Parts: sequence; C-alpha cells; structure tokens
Amino acid sequence: MRKKLVVGNWKMNGSRAANAVLLAGLREAGPWTADVAVCVPFPYITETALALTGTAVGFGAQDCSAHEQGAYTGEVSSAMLADLGCRYAIVGHSERRAYHQESDQLVADKAKAALAHGITPIVCVGETLAEREAGQTEQVVKRQLAAVIHTLTHCIGEIVLAYEPVWAIGTGLTATPEQAQAVHAVLRTQLHAATQKSDAMRLLYGGSMKADNAAALLAQPDIDGGLIGGASLKATDFGAICRAA
Ligand code: 13P
Repeated sequence: MRKKLVVGNWKMNGSRAANAVLLAGLREAGPWTADVAVCVPFPYITETALALTGTAVGFGAQDCSAHEQGAYTGEVSSAMLADLGCRYAIVGHSERRAYHQESDQLVADKAKAALAHGITPIVCVGETLAEREAGQTEQVVKRQLAAVIHTLTHCIGEIVLAYEPVWAIGTGLTATPEQAQAVHAVLRTQLHAATQKSDAMRLLYGGSMKADNAAALLAQPDIDGGLIGGASLKATDFGAICRAA
C-alpha cells in the first residue's frame, strides 16, 4: 500500500512571526500516520527547517531553477535547496505555468534538476475550466505528464505527481472524488506504461481540499494524498487534513 502524503503549499504567504505560530502549531498537531511536509517561500526555508527539527514533518520549496548555477538572476538552484535540507520542490504549479509562462518542457527540466540533487519534485498538472468544458481534460494532463516522462525516462518513478484542476484552486470548488479519481486513473495508466514503479508512486490531489472534503477524496483508490493551499495556513485546518489521510 502507498503511504499517504499531505503537502502544504504556503504560496506567497507568511511572515517570520506568522510562520513561527503556524510551525509551532504543526509541532503540536502531529505526529500523523501519513507523511507530511510544507513547501514554503524561499526566504523562510532555513527557519522552517529549524522549527521542524526533531519532527517527522518534511519541508521544501515551491519552485526550483532548471539550471545548475551561474548567471540566472533571481533563480534558486536545486543544489541550494539540497544544501538547506529540502526534501521536496513543487514544479509546474499552474500559477507558475500561467503567470510565468512555464512550458511543459521547462517544468520537466526543473523536475530533472531537482532529482539530480536528491530532491523529490512534486510535479503539478491540471486543466483550466475552459479546457474541461471543451472536453480536453485528459488530453491536457497527458500532454503535461508526457513531457516529464520523456525527459526523466527511467527516473520517472521517483517523482510525486499532483493533479490540480486549475478551476478548483483557491475557488472553493473542489473536484468531486469521482472527477478526481477519473483523472488520477488516467495518469496512473500513463505512468504504468512508462515505469514498473507506477503502483508505488504517489499521486496527490490539489484544489480546495479542506478538512471536510479530504476524507472522501483520499478514500479514492488512486488518490494518495493532497497538495493543500489555503487550508495549509492554519495548523488546526492542516492538521485535520493530515489526520484524515
Ligand atoms: P487551494 O487549496 O487554496 O485551492 O490551493 C491548491 C493549490 O494550488 C496547492 O498547490
């Protein structure tokens, strides 16, 4: 059986004072049977690491560069994240695809850079509302995943995949467990054709996952955890999701 994984994506939220309260709350709320991690803004990684010392809660970043090092002003390399002890880096979040024009290939290259430094990339895929309404959901997520499979080849089994329908992010509109499971099953089948590890890989759902809908989503056969935005900013809410997993 796959161990569930719940990851908080803080996005561009927080302050040193607010993070201290949130992280202290997480220390108290755990431990959980699921694997749990938080992906925090770059400037707060070190303090997060310190605050979580001695707990089983992992931590990571929300992006990484596709480049190794050098003249890339503003970018943060996977080597730097590894240096700070990060276990995870989210790559290809829809907000980065949309606001920073990240292509499928760039996302795949970022995943490769992360793996090269021992960091597990959490690769996000998902369709927009217009794409869903046009009946293109499968086609879109398969295209996004295909670029990663093609680039990582035999390492594809090392990633965590997150299905995040864009229309469900931050909107309070959650995919139904059936809608989410249907897409997860498509993704699992695509992975199955690419790696013998597909049955061991964790596929997370993200998009308005909350304490009150988490259990039903996580009960689906191919949903192995959650990628949580808004509800990861309060220790009680996030803790409740972790408990449900
Ligand atoms: P919300 O949980 O706020 O909808 O965000 C989901 C998300 O984008 C996690 O990466």
